[in-house]
Amino acid sequence: MTRHVVWDHGVSLPGHRLFLDPLVVRNFAFISHAHTDHARRHREALLTPQTLALIPEGRRPRGWRMLGYGEAMRRDSATVTLLPAGHMLGSAQLLLEHDGIRLLYTGDLKLRVPGTRVLTEIPRADVLIVESTYGRPHFRFGDPDETVEAIARWCRFALASRVTPVLLCHALGKTEEVMLALAQYGFTFALEKRCVPCARAYAAAGRSLPDWIELEAASGDAHGRVVIAPPAGKDEVRRLSRYRTALVSGWAKDTEFARMFGADATFDLSDHCDFDELLEVVAKSGADQVYTVHGYTADFARHLRRKGIRASALEATEQLQLAL
Ligand SMILES: [Zn+2]
Repeated sequence: MTRHVVWDHGVSLPGHRLFLDPLVVRNFAFISHAHTDHARRHREALLTPQTLALIPEGRRPRGWRMLGYGEAMRRDSATVTLLPAGHMLGSAQLLLEHDGIRLLYTGDLKLRVPGTRVLTEIPRADVLIVESTYGRPHFRFGDPDETVEAIARWCRFALASRVTPVLLCHALGKTEEVMLALAQYGFTFALEKRCVPCARAYAAAGRSLPDWIELEAASGDAHGRVVIAPPAGKDEVRRLSRYRTALVSGWAKDTEFARMFGADATFDLSDHCDFDELLEVVAKSGADQVYTVHGYTADFARHLRRKGIRASALEATEQLQLAL
C-alpha cells in the first residue's frame, strides 16, 4: 500500500487516506510548511507547531494535529514521523513506515542551510517523493555562505556610496533567513510593508529577528538600513531617493527570469535544493522508486531515469511553480 502514490490535486497516498500538501481542502492532510501554496483550510491537518503559527488566521486548517520533529504518530497500521526540511522555519519532511516499507516525502527542501555546516538529514527510504523546483542542470547555486558574504559586500558598498541597498526576497521565510544571515555583519533593516506581517509571525513562532523597522518610503530615506521587499511590485521602493536592487533567489540562475524583475544585481541564494543537491537527496535516500513533484518534474525524472533510477513525474502536466 505504501508504494501506491498518485496525483490527485496534490500527492495522495490512498492506502493511508493521507494527502500531502493537497491544493484542495481535504479531511486529513499534511502541510509541509507555511507558504501559501501549501496552506488550505483542511478539516484536520498534520503539521509542526511552527508551521501552524506561521499560517495566517484566515488560511488555517479547521483542526490540526501538531507533531514536533522526530515524534512518531500512528496512522492505522503505519507510523508517521516529521523531520526538518531546512526550507524555512517549521518546514518538515514526512516519513511513513508501513509493512517494512519506508516512504519519504520531502516537501520543499534545502540541504545546505547558510550559517550551518550541518546538512539537512535525508533518511533511507524505499519510495521517495521529492520536490524538483530546480530540477534542471543549469540551476547550480554557489556556496550559500559565500553568497551571503557577497550580499553583505554589495550592501556595504551601496551604503558607503549613500545608496539604499534593496534586497528583493520572498516575504515569508527568505526575508527572515536573509536578515538572520546578514545580521552578523552588523546591518539593520527596513522592511517593505508586505514583509512586515511575515516578520512579526516569524518572531512570534519562536525565531527572534535582528533590528528592523517598517520602511517609511514617503520620506525617501531608509536611514542607512538595508531594505527588504518582495520581488513583485516595487512601488514603495521607487519612492526612495537613491537605491539599487538585488534579486535574492534561485531564479537568479535563469537569465530570462532575472531580467523580468529588472534588478541591478542577482544572488543565487535559495531556500530550495539546486540540481546537484536534488541528486544528492535521491542518492542519500537510496530509494528504488522516485516520484518528482513541483517545477521541472518531467526533466528531473528523465534525468534520474538516464542514471538508471526508476523515476516518474507525479503531476500529470508540468507546471512551473515560482518559488522565490
Ligand atoms: Zn515553500
